[in-house]
Amino acid sequence: MSVHTDRSAVTVLGLGPMGRALAGAFLDAGLRTTVWNRTPGRDGELVARGAAAASSAEEAVAAAPLTVVCVVNYDASDAVLRQDAVTAALKGRTVVNLSADTPGRARDTAEWAGRHGIRYLDGAIMTPTPTIGTDDAVLLLSGPEELYREHRPVLAALGGSHTHLGEEIGRAAAYDIALLDVFWTAMAGYAHALAVARAEGVTATELAPFAQGIGAILPPLFAEFAADADAGTYSGELNPITSSASTMAHIVHASEAHGIDASVMRVIEGQARRVIALGHGADGFTRVAEVLARR
Ligand code: NDP
Repeated sequence: MSVHTDRSAVTVLGLGPMGRALAGAFLDAGLRTTVWNRTPGRDGELVARGAAAASSAEEAVAAAPLTVVCVVNYDASDAVLRQDAVTAALKGRTVVNLSADTPGRARDTAEWAGRHGIRYLDGAIMTPTPTIGTDDAVLLLSGPEELYREHRPVLAALGGSHTHLGEEIGRAAAYDIALLDVFWTAMAGYAHALAVARAEGVTATELAPFAQGIGAILPPLFAEFAADADAGTYSGELNPITSSASTMAHIVHASEAHGIDASVMRVIEGQARRVIALGHGADGFTRVAEVLARR
């Protein structure tokens, strides 16, 4: 079997924490794994476990029919993939880009790949490195269904759930952006909460169990809000946005009294006040999503 069609071979470009986790999972699954990273010296442990170290990106991509890219963003993946020798070596092979970036960058990369006869899937990893190769990994993919099916057996080595979101190449990045939006704004709220609590003499450890309780409220609320937003009801029966805006103002006042920057909460309060000013004060917080989407 030629390397070109060898379904037990895979290449990983990018050996940051996530790239190393991906390569490790491929090795654990018994796949012939070739690795490359811009800065040398990141492949030691993988090579000790049986990976082949390529001396250049073009040598790496030539070693397998499937190349998985996992670098910081698409400026970085462009810097690697769009070198003439790498692009030429990729002709007829498949690239799965698991780096994070915007849907627009995914579409641009697919267009570039199409022009160069490179088969292309885009993807996003939604869970941290320790989940890779376990049941807890969550991967989202988009692009040609047939190509996804073809490489599904190799990608399965990464573990967990894999969801093919459809042929529209920007779809995985669209989900990624939306889900990271949830994550980072929640984390920003937590960082701010820790600062305000500390100013009030409450340690992070003291607050943590109660913060976990707040976190546990969110999953059912996400489902409830989704149904409410899709139905366009924005129900405020149990908690009108006028009441929510009032509690947001308390947070702003308490943190600014300690000289702590409350700009994130000020933005959220401002959005709630805008909803009220537009005449939707009896609605629930989900109305913000509708108002934000207005052009
Ligand atoms: P980083 O996001 O820090 O990416 C590091 C990798 O990017 C290294 O291999 C680095 O190479 C490479 N890189 C950066 N700039 C360039 C460039 N100009 N040319 C070539 N290579 C470059 O670390 P991670 O491995 O953690 O993340 C990789 C991707 O996975 C990111 O898009 C991230 O958002 C995503 N991800 C990561 C998760 C995690 O828990 N770590 C979770 C989910 C997704 P070098 O060593 O030479 O600097």
